[in-house]
Amino acid sequence: MARGPRRTVWVLGDQLNRGIASLEDADPAGTRVLMVTARAKARSKPFHPQRLALVSGAMAAFASELRAEGFAVDERTAPTFAAGLAAHVRAHRPESVRAMEPMSWDGREMLRALGVEVVRSTQFLCHHEDFAAWADGHGGRLRMEDFYREQRRRLGYLMDGDGPEGGVWNLDDRNREPPPRDGRPWPAAPGGWAVTRRGALARMRGFMTHVLPRFGPHQDAMVEGEWRMAHSLLSPYLNLGLLHPREVADAAEAAYRAGGVPLASAEGFIRQVIGWREYVWGIYWRAMPGMRRANALRAHRPLPPALARGSTGMRCVAAAVGSVERHAYAHHIQRLMVLGNLALLAGVRPSEMVDWMWASFIDGAEWVMLPNVLGMALHADGGRMMTKPYAAGGAYIDRMSDHCGRCPYHPRRRTGDDACPFTTLYWDFLARHGERFARNPRMARQVAAMRRLPDLPAVRERAAEVLARLDAGDL
Ligand code: SF4
Repeated sequence: MARGPRRTVWVLGDQLNRGIASLEDADPAGTRVLMVTARAKARSKPFHPQRLALVSGAMAAFASELRAEGFAVDERTAPTFAAGLAAHVRAHRPESVRAMEPMSWDGREMLRALGVEVVRSTQFLCHHEDFAAWADGHGGRLRMEDFYREQRRRLGYLMDGDGPEGGVWNLDDRNREPPPRDGRPWPAAPGGWAVTRRGALARMRGFMTHVLPRFGPHQDAMVEGEWRMAHSLLSPYLNLGLLHPREVADAAEAAYRAGGVPLASAEGFIRQVIGWREYVWGIYWRAMPGMRRANALRAHRPLPPALARGSTGMRCVAAAVGSVERHAYAHHIQRLMVLGNLALLAGVRPSEMVDWMWASFIDGAEWVMLPNVLGMALHADGGRMMTKPYAAGGAYIDRMSDHCGRCPYHPRRRTGDDACPFTTLYWDFLARHGERFARNPRMARQVAAMRRLPDLPAVRERAAEVLARLDAGDL
């Protein structure tokens, strides 16, 4: 008969925090911690090596911290999670096995099927059941801005009495500046991804002190050779549980209150943490499992080599994919307006794009990528999240980056050999979906402009050529 702790807490690979609901009251004498690495999961996608190293390193570091506290930790590598649990039960015969609710749909289904006792997740500020109640209370309307204001009021961030600090809820219009031209260097930040909570906390404090003051105005800009600029790079730590959103938002508010951080920067950052990130998690649970199959624009193109391997002369795409290859990271405007935009305009199958980004990014997870990629970037949910698609031609990228000057294509040309593929495909996208978007008040003007183009047949001819070359990896 096995001896030792009688209860097991199963800690999943994205719950690496002593404060999680399944562990917060656990005492080391009575609790054994189980951590399973499933080979089937690690091989389910071509995950970026940095992603695999981060998750395995963070799990090992957390196991060490728990052992140092006196816990018995059973770290197992097994063919599947179920096999890992079965081997643990055979070896230790626990009276009970419990876990905190997983972040993903499949994780929850698996724990239910295995008979594991599941406790409610505390990893977000608004549980997805509370999000669903909020959405139902709004007649099913899911406007992120409404949810965000509710979070501000409920949680008390950046409030001045009953109203928002500074009198305005959302200062995004101050945060859309093109790349700066003052020559100032971007803040230095330590390299490599941290695998411990201590390291993640150090990254968070460094960001609040040195980087957040510069975060806001240029957060939508792209600069050659600058992969971080003033982005926080905290999402992998939040998504693995090393940091909790409350402590990150608290730190940002404290940095603002201490002076030195402009309100627009603090507001823009806190909005991402307590607004967008929580909204995305709530949307995921509300739309699953059907969301995986959503493909409202009937996009069926395979992932092009330009994205899969970065083999392209398109400077903006090569820069974003190069950043992903080197760092498992590209910042949000590269994700949305370069990688996602190209996939939207070209009609890449949403599930392929989701899988690629999930596997390639350091902060990837299904709950992150389905809403962000399928819903926001590819409009594959038919507009449930975003009332208009994030489609843009080369002029937008030219305004917000310094890529176009070094690119063989010309951002404002839509026909000819040197026409920017984004620009050509933008007009072709509107032509292909003209009927659908003509009925959308936020798109009708663009559709009307497309219909007035004097050279539309030539644009469409060039688009066919661009798509064929995109498929062939020759663009
Ligand atoms: Fe990208 Fe077009 Fe600019 Fe080239 S010209 S960098 S393809 S937007």
